Amino acid sequence: MDLKSTIIRIAWWGLHFGEEFPFVGDKGAGTIFFTGCNLRCVYCQNYQISQQGIGKNYSLQELVEIILKLQERGALNIDLVTPTIWARQIKEALVEAKKNGLRLPVLWNSNAYEEVEMLKTFEGLVDIYLPDFKYSDNELAFKYSGIKNYVEKAKAAIKEMQRQVGNLKLTKEGIAERGLLVRHLILPNNIKNSLKALEYLKEIDDNLYISLMSQYEPIHRAKDFPELNQDITQKELDTVFNHLVELGFENGWVQDIGNHSEFLPDFTRKNPFEKEEIKD
Ligand code: SF4
Repeated sequence: MDLKSTIIRIAWWGLHFGEEFPFVGDKGAGTIFFTGCNLRCVYCQNYQISQQGIGKNYSLQELVEIILKLQERGALNIDLVTPTIWARQIKEALVEAKKNGLRLPVLWNSNAYEEVEMLKTFEGLVDIYLPDFKYSDNELAFKYSGIKNYVEKAKAAIKEMQRQVGNLKLTKEGIAERGLLVRHLILPNNIKNSLKALEYLKEIDDNLYISLMSQYEPIHRAKDFPELNQDITQKELDTVFNHLVELGFENGWVQDIGNHSEFLPDFTRKNPFEKEEIKD
């Protein structure tokens, strides 16, 4: 693959604090949001880039330079967000960046709907996997994200990720060095989906690190689905959390219920995470 002529599409890159503490610390993750996604979730918070194509074309050589710039700027890691459809290109860029001095941990931040064979090609290149295990029900996955066989495929992908890097390992300062953290976004009026998802994860390993996310906001096409057209409730979060404890999981994070709408990115801005537009 020629680095100068191969194109990849990126929506935003920079130092970012939008992940759990072990992945951002005080310095920020070196995050790269790729344009496009292999799912089409009706409630996607990043729908502008996952489904509407916002972003800019870069050569793979430029991606290598971006990775190395993030390292120079003091990023804690290289955080690849929605990388799946660009896997082949990203792999080439990572190999080249490592040849040119990349020494930060690399995070693969995905929806877990990925081929095991593809993931195998990242063994030794990715240090930390952050899959979002979204569904325990294939019908729901089809209804809300337009994909088939999510459950089987995501479970196999998560097992492969764990085989490569093991469970999450933190430094004594609480910074992630290596390993797997599985996220789960709770959807309103779909608690059974969350309870079963946790049971499936326990079948993989009850020492997994889990991050329960309550940041759901009814945006994009969620209004077309009455059950999705609201926030999740404290009761729903408590029910899922209690099940997590009952199942014996002891490691991970739970996001508080709150108004997360102020954190919704707007990728039409120069910095999608600033509330006010910054002028040059
Ligand atoms: S998998 Fe994530 S990024 Fe992709 S469409 Fe769904 S919510 Fe958006």
